[in-house]
Amino acid sequence: MNESRRAFLSAAGAVGGALALAGCAGDDPQDVEAGAVTTTTRTESSTPTSTASGGDLKPTVATSTIRAGTEQETTVYEIRSGRPGPTAFVVGGMHGNEESGYWAADDVRNWKIDAGTLVVLPEANAPAVEQHRREWPGEMDLNRQFPIGAPPKNALAREIWGAIRRHEPDVLVDLHSSKGILRRENDEGVGQNVFHSNHESVVRSVQRAIEYLNDEFVTGYEPIYDFVRTPADDSEYATAPMLVNKARRDRDIPSCLFEVTQDGVKPEKRARWTKAFVASVLDSWRIRAL
Ligand SMILES: [Zn+2]
Repeated sequence: MNESRRAFLSAAGAVGGALALAGCAGDDPQDVEAGAVTTTTRTESSTPTSTASGGDLKPTVATSTIRAGTEQETTVYEIRSGRPGPTAFVVGGMHGNEESGYWAADDVRNWKIDAGTLVVLPEANAPAVEQHRREWPGEMDLNRQFPIGAPPKNALAREIWGAIRRHEPDVLVDLHSSKGILRRENDEGVGQNVFHSNHESVVRSVQRAIEYLNDEFVTGYEPIYDFVRTPADDSEYATAPMLVNKARRDRDIPSCLFEVTQDGVKPEKRARWTKAFVASVLDSWRIRAL
């Protein structure tokens, strides 16, 4: 179902895909591989809703829990518009010291959407977020636990991957920040850049989002602060055991990883830019109008 939905999007040459997709929206996951997941659904109506018919339905917010009952417990929010359309999956807090990503994601999870489904995992590594550390426990870098072609390396990564598999998103967005700037010489940072898969839908939506950011938000900065995009397969991180790489390589999921710089940009502003990026991507996919 998801493959044909993606094929449709690709064949139609459109980024958004709200048309002719009735029957594909709101499919229940067939492929639950991550242990105990509890799900609750809050419906904005007292009448129980069904997602089986693919018609014009009431919006709902469902939550599920990753690593329930452990110190890594964290929540996945699923906002269903009740209308046919693609599924976007947004991740924050893979690195606990990159607050703009999880601040933005925590806001995004409250957004109302127009079509399709928006899934948000605001704090992928909740204890790392709490301690404001990139790695936790110890030297565990969560975004290096997703080897391509092999199972995730620990329980947290396995359950996050399980959530990706259950939702099988049409687009995956992972939110980060970096100490430096990718294009600056002698700078090891990767900021003001979006790594992305080569799916045409993602290339177009990322290009549009960075133009929006550069025109409307990154004003009064040196030109090197303008956002750029980099095909993930061309980057030195192409095969690193990162979530977006595994999603792209193992599941052919259109995906991108957003890196705003920490250099000279305060956390609040980084979070605003991050939200603007997500908003523009969702607009391109016709999930939520800007
Ligand atoms: Zn990061």
